[in-house]
Amino acid sequence: MSDHTLFNFVHGELLENTSGQSFDVINPATNEVIYKTQVADEFIQQKAIESARQGFATWSAMTAVERSRVLLKAVELLRERNDELAKIEVLDTGKPIQEADCVDIETGADVIEYFAGLAPAQLGSQQPVGEDFFYTRKEPIGICAGIGAWNYPLQIACWKSGPALAAGNVLIFKPSEETPRGAVELAKVFIEAGVPPGVFNVVHGAGEVGQWLTTHPAIEKVSFTGEVGTGQKVMQSAASNLKEVTMELGGKSPLIVFEDAEITEAVSAAMLGNFYTQGEVCTNCTRVYVHKAVYEEFIQELKQRTENNIIVGDPLDPKVNLGALISKKHQKLVLDYIEMGKQQGATLLTGGHAVSPSSAPDGNFVAPTVFIDCRDDMTIVKEEIFGPVMCVLAFEDESDVIARANNTELGLAAGVFSQNIKRAHRVIHQLNAGICWINSYGNSPAEMPVGGYKRSGIGRENGVETLNSYTQTKSIYVGMSQIDSPF
Ligand code: NDP
Repeated sequence: MSDHTLFNFVHGELLENTSGQSFDVINPATNEVIYKTQVADEFIQQKAIESARQGFATWSAMTAVERSRVLLKAVELLRERNDELAKIEVLDTGKPIQEADCVDIETGADVIEYFAGLAPAQLGSQQPVGEDFFYTRKEPIGICAGIGAWNYPLQIACWKSGPALAAGNVLIFKPSEETPRGAVELAKVFIEAGVPPGVFNVVHGAGEVGQWLTTHPAIEKVSFTGEVGTGQKVMQSAASNLKEVTMELGGKSPLIVFEDAEITEAVSAAMLGNFYTQGEVCTNCTRVYVHKAVYEEFIQELKQRTENNIIVGDPLDPKVNLGALISKKHQKLVLDYIEMGKQQGATLLTGGHAVSPSSAPDGNFVAPTVFIDCRDDMTIVKEEIFGPVMCVLAFEDESDVIARANNTELGLAAGVFSQNIKRAHRVIHQLNAGICWINSYGNSPAEMPVGGYKRSGIGRENGVETLNSYTQTKSIYVGMSQIDSPF
């Protein structure tokens, strides 16, 4: 047990609360308490808002180029500290260091870099109206709130702060209470880079602190990443003073493998889209539809590679490629789904149980699990599991598989494997999902907008449109002609 305590980060520094209230943060690979974190009590909440007001006054008065220069310095520092930050993410999340080392911080830094480059190029418009004219300005919204999930803590903080800050806003960010450190490290990096105090504050706590952010009248916009049910609550609270909302929610995404697909590539995609980050990725293709003509070949290769190429164990070991699930509670939830799959008649191809590897015997590990011969009405095929559990289903007909793939309330992502380019595009255009891949799965560069259809979300992250969503348009009409007044 560690006696180290992490404070909230407000106005450029770690700030102690007055209530003394704190919670434990547990390493998912050992189930040991690694540090305590102080809750954002009323004192912290009040300071965070005051500080954000001051931060906004300073930051929004700077030019976009000045802000960009500072943000690019932060990007440089993030890249310099990659290894140290990756290790922090591994201890908090349980994910393998081989992933965190090359994905979490890098893709976070990429997004800040992208928006820092984009913001100075953002233009207003001008249009004549007779002799008069109007012009528009893209102005920042003000104080925004970010609420993050636990699977990519630092990356989510970067994805929300990058566009928000580049557009001249300030952000109060609440990381998940399970993984609070990454956001604080990002806050320190911002300060060191020259971002003024109050522009990026971090507040800690569970749902109540999130709810406070979603109801506070000074906050103009909330960007949320998490479960559909929590997203609904956030929207309801945000409606109290008509805040703008962006919602990045859950998924149950289909991957469709046609008979002309390169099978080895399709198996790679299915494994990446189910076992990367031990299955705790929102875009995962947890419903893998495989054409009957290649079904046997597909599952044989899948079984062989799942059983031979996956190393479960201490996530800090660079050879390990499947880490620990975030908590004991979540491990149980995933194992309960696996039991349900067995009871409802799916065939277990491999896995299906907890694992206690010798390098980390007390961690929350679940073996990479594949169910085959699944039916669309099974609970494991319908609900997001958020663990290393893949469901394979057979199909024969193109229009039938499209209908089956779309038969869900969620619509985050989708993938198609086929060498027939007409078919690949035709099918993907008919899938109700916001993030789609053809002959690929999971890549999410800063330039590409990402977000869900249906219950999987509202709004987008990344890409040009996200910068726009962190601005409001002011129209200014300029009279050049005499006012025509009846009075
Ligand atoms: P949760 O919805 O449980 O939590 C998300 C965040 O919301 C946490 O910081 C949580 O705090 C906070 N929160 C909880 N209750 C409230 C409330 N009433 N008001 C405001 N905030 C609240 O999601 P998980 O952390 O369990 O993350 C997993 C989910 O996130 C999955 O469904 C996954 O698909 C989705 N996700 C979506 C992504 C996307 O881009 N579409 C990306 C990553 C994940 P605390 O945890 O401290 O209680």
